[in-house]
Amino acid sequence: MKSKRDFQFDAIVIGGGIAGLQSALDLGDQGYTVAVVDKDATIGGKMIRLSKVFPTLDCASCITTPKMSSAAHHDNITLFTYCTLDNLKRESPDRVVAQLTQKPRYVDPDKCIGCRKCEYDCPVYVPDDEQGGFNMRKAIYIPFSNAIPQIALLDAENCALCGKCAKVCPTDAVDYFMKPEAITLTASTAVLATGFELSPLDQKPQYGLGRLQNVVSSMQMERLLAPHGPYNRVLRPSDGREPDSIAYVQCAGSRDKSLGIPYCSRVCCMYAIKQAMLLSGALPLADITIYYMDIRAFGKGYEQFYQNAKAMGIEFVKAKVAQISQADDQKVMLRYEDQEGSGGVMERDHDLVILSLGMVPQWNPEGICSVGCGQDGFIKPAIPKIAPTVTDLEGVFTAGVASGPKDIVDTITEAGAAAMEAANYLKALNGSTA
Ligand SMILES: Cc1cc2nc3c(=O)[nH]c(=O)nc-3n(C[C@H](O)[C@H](O)[C@H](O)COP(=O)(O)OP(=O)(O)OC[C@H]3O[C@@H](n4cnc5c(N)ncnc54)[C@H](O)[C@@H]3O)c2cc1C
Repeated sequence: MKSKRDFQFDAIVIGGGIAGLQSALDLGDQGYTVAVVDKDATIGGKMIRLSKVFPTLDCASCITTPKMSSAAHHDNITLFTYCTLDNLKRESPDRVVAQLTQKPRYVDPDKCIGCRKCEYDCPVYVPDDEQGGFNMRKAIYIPFSNAIPQIALLDAENCALCGKCAKVCPTDAVDYFMKPEAITLTASTAVLATGFELSPLDQKPQYGLGRLQNVVSSMQMERLLAPHGPYNRVLRPSDGREPDSIAYVQCAGSRDKSLGIPYCSRVCCMYAIKQAMLLSGALPLADITIYYMDIRAFGKGYEQFYQNAKAMGIEFVKAKVAQISQADDQKVMLRYEDQEGSGGVMERDHDLVILSLGMVPQWNPEGICSVGCGQDGFIKPAIPKIAPTVTDLEGVFTAGVASGPKDIVDTITEAGAAAMEAANYLKALNGSTA
């Protein structure tokens, strides 16, 4: 590994999603210096990848980009993107140390001006995960148009080493020989905001995800609905036709003991209802059905949102879907147990099926940090009822989905609370205000 770099801050925030950014901004605004570490090449987490957000239907990008930008331009905040967290340890009451590896971008961040000339000239096309895999990106690329930082990275696995990017770069930023770099961050407190991943469905092949082209995940549907989505409209992946009949399968990866995910992921009912409403705007003639076990519309204004969806003509069928399979004419057949109406096992075809996947932790601290986790794998608050952001590691706090499924409102609230706990910890150490 290349030379080691050491940095000193008041606080370290692990995770640059909306939780981590809010905690960092709240600490930074109080005068504390903060390092935000993210394993991705951009900050923003899941929220920047959403279309619109329930229950207000605000454009996700429009409300997340200003937060990302404020953090990036804040005098007290330093971003460490595209970094792996190798170790996080409390060494003494006033010293927490994070060891990172800066993964090589093969583009010098100090030289890159984000002009994308390298991207335009690159001849290699790779499926773009940022767009649900529906369209292609280049082997050297900026993740998306409002990514922060606007620095290109080269995907070494797919690079053809043709040299075109290096030749066209006006600042000589491409460096094919870049090496990983060790970074040490030292601070007095830390906030863990590592968020979530969608629940994997490998153990549920009967739902067809990854096998049936017209069965997509809820995150893929966010991209199909997003203003800068892969097609700029909602199309069925198999043949590019507009779907006339769309189905949501709820609790696909939550409340399912067979997957080891017995808990409710709390946001899936609401995001499915949100997407269904957006779809009925985008495709006014389409029939939209939500197959659900229970609707959990728990937050302020959420029940009304659900009632509005029903009034718009979205059909809700209380049923547990058992199997999803290929039907004629590129349709998808759902086999389900109807729990209302006539009851019994039923079958129905749809043009497009969306699986409302749940949330599992994105980070497993084992071997990296001694913070305690619950049986569900999420970070366990030391006193869940009255101090939900305090962990069992002294002066280390948690915010957002890192400690359990929650929506954006609860994530932001928790991020503020974690920042307050961290600030109080710093004040107690310093014996004065910042
Ligand atoms: C399909 C879908 C639609 C949704 N729609 C809505 C909606 O409309 N309204 C609403 O209120 N909520 C919605 N949500 C929920 C919302 O996405 C979450 O509440 C929110 O994103 C949580 O933010 P977070 O920062 O806690 O986690 P994340 O957004 O997951 O961010 C975590 C960050 O931590 C980073 N990270 C993880 N591990 C490490 C590590 N080891 N080292 C460094 N960095 C790390 C990640 O790269 C990421 O940037 C939706 C969720 C889904 C799945």
